[in-house]
Amino acid sequence: MSLRFDGKVAIVTGAGGGLGKTYALELAKRGAKVVVNDLGGDRHGTSSSTSMADKVVQEIKSAGGQAVANYDSVEFGDKIVKTAIDNFGRIDIVINNAGILRDVSFVKMTDLDWDLIFKVHVKGAYSVTKAAWPYMRDQKYGRIVVTSSNAGVHGNFGQTNYAAAKSALIGFANALAQEGAKYNILANTLVPTAGSRLTETVMPQNLVDALKPDYVTPLVTYLVHESFPESGKVFEAGAGWYGTLQYYKSKGKVIPNATADDIAKNWNVLTDMNGAEYIGTMQEQTGRLLAVLEETPVTT
Ligand code: NAD
Repeated sequence: MSLRFDGKVAIVTGAGGGLGKTYALELAKRGAKVVVNDLGGDRHGTSSSTSMADKVVQEIKSAGGQAVANYDSVEFGDKIVKTAIDNFGRIDIVINNAGILRDVSFVKMTDLDWDLIFKVHVKGAYSVTKAAWPYMRDQKYGRIVVTSSNAGVHGNFGQTNYAAAKSALIGFANALAQEGAKYNILANTLVPTAGSRLTETVMPQNLVDALKPDYVTPLVTYLVHESFPESGKVFEAGAGWYGTLQYYKSKGKVIPNATADDIAKNWNVLTDMNGAEYIGTMQEQTGRLLAVLEETPVTT
């Protein structure tokens, strides 16, 4: 086992089951001290219990690892980080994994469906990361993962709330990556696919059984290791396939003083993805636009 985590402390949110449980077990196996956070509620974000986190902590300890349970909702990130500091004295890794679903068509969606999804996924990732950030800055070391979804990238019927929240997390991690760069804090986004109690509501049972959460675990483990070199990127895993997802922009076309008719006329050229370019940062994009302005000032 060459990727070791000795001396490192990790928080895995929602680690009482599904994907998070596999991350907690794997990190502990590789020497990390793990805060196993789980509210222990149902998949819709109601109710709570201590048993889910406790069982995973027990499993880690029985295998000779070190772990402590935390039962707070991810909205209260300061309490989760306090568990890490009180028990292990530091925090190096945050895997924002906790999640719920409130699937319903947009016409039937209530404010509660919208707000609960944002509270757990977006406010939760914000809150835990925010509480860990000062420790990571001071020690000039941190590894952060947020969990998005193909629904956040592509949209999905009945998931306007979930898709919006999962998409928000990509922007969150990309901005964190820039703020963390000079402190050696790396932030990346994971897009997983796995059978779990969340996906058993939307997948047939044979697929739930085949898409083992353990297929996702190796990627996440590498993303939070000290040797991992990248930040502000999106990585994907499922069914034994691993890859990355990046934004490319079409070459487009500069049309000085364009009218709507010019846009319509040139549509195929503007949206032609042949020769599309990877744009890594806001700064690169702004630089491109400034270059256009210099060459072809718009006349008023
Ligand atoms: P899961 O339901 O098995 O695990 C989610 C865990 O989060 C549960 O144990 C739950 O108790 C916990 N949790 C929920 N709300 C919480 C809160 N407020 N505070 C603390 N813990 C809370 O589901 P999973 O499939 O393992 O999902 C893990 C993450 O991966 C989620 O963020 C999910 O949206 C995301 N995801 C999963 C898939 C997939 O195919 N399974 C695809 C895309 C994204």
